[in-house]
Amino acid sequence: MSTTAEPTLLDGRAFAKRVKEDFAPRVEALRAAGRTPRLVAVRVGEDPATSAYLRGQRRGAERWGIDYEIRTLDPASNEAAIRKAIKELNRNPDVTGILLALPLPEGIGARALQHEIDPAKDVEGVHPENLGGCFYGRYDLLPCTALAAVGLVKSSGIEVQGKEAVVVGHSEIVGKPAAMLLLGEDATVTVCHKFTADLAAHTRRADILVVAVGLPGLIKGDMVKDGAVVIDVGINAVKDENGDTKIVGDVAFDEVAPKASAITPVPGGVGPVTVAALMRNTVLACEGMPPLDDPNQLPLFNQ
Ligand code: NAP
Repeated sequence: MSTTAEPTLLDGRAFAKRVKEDFAPRVEALRAAGRTPRLVAVRVGEDPATSAYLRGQRRGAERWGIDYEIRTLDPASNEAAIRKAIKELNRNPDVTGILLALPLPEGIGARALQHEIDPAKDVEGVHPENLGGCFYGRYDLLPCTALAAVGLVKSSGIEVQGKEAVVVGHSEIVGKPAAMLLLGEDATVTVCHKFTADLAAHTRRADILVVAVGLPGLIKGDMVKDGAVVIDVGINAVKDENGDTKIVGDVAFDEVAPKASAITPVPGGVGPVTVAALMRNTVLACEGMPPLDDPNQLPLFNQ
């Protein structure tokens, strides 16, 4: 069934640790200069899934030496109250990074509020100015998960130039920016989504397959070509045979891994790298952004 021996497991935890070590001198330098990176996560109410996600960020920030604060707004906050909180943080010179944790209460749109974040402090890379960076090949405050997915490939020494890359999922924060980053690295990129007529016909052509949908087992063994690099961004909570909850990706790992040359596990793949990407962005934001027309390209990570 397979022409590939053992696939390389792209270990996101080990990679995230290396990124942290690479950046440690820069965090040290900032702290020594009295400019400690300080990231504030704004949340509305106490959604349990968000709490788990923010706990992961807090642990990451502690490991990096970045100050981290969760600012919890009243669950009854309206859009104006959230906007006011963001504006205060924009003005506060001690706050160098801001993120708005989702979901927001029903009826409040995230996009307009994310656009309220000062782009120089937008460490999740969700402001249009930073999303636009993907188009210009400006690798500063990139959307974290797209940066994690493509950065993990590049930093693992996998050739991207000239390869067929297929991205499944076209959300604004993952699929679309991941596609632009792959294009920026000179891959030939196809983007698939819910209305793609024959998904497998595309995924089977992929040298590099990035899947960010949120459907467990969407990508089966017969949808992947031998030797493909498979990056599974999906995070899905499912019940196992004992009724216990476990986390799986969008890729049927046991079927796909024997065919892949390299693959990310879930958990332990893109997830930890996304936290590292957030911290990388927080360090960059604290250091100060290069001018918009700076011709010097920043690396995705420190590679
Ligand atoms: P999203 O906004 O829900 O986007 C999902 C995308 O998948 C949409 O573009 C959707 O298309 C597409 N899609 C839906 N059904 C499909 C199908 N049958 N075939 C092909 N495409 C299909 O989700 P997201 O924020 O991008 O996140 C995607 C997944 O990544 C989720 O599991 C999420 O939990 C996970 N995630 C992981 C990390 C991490 O750090 N590892 C970070 C963020 C997100 P339409 O727009 O046409 O519906």
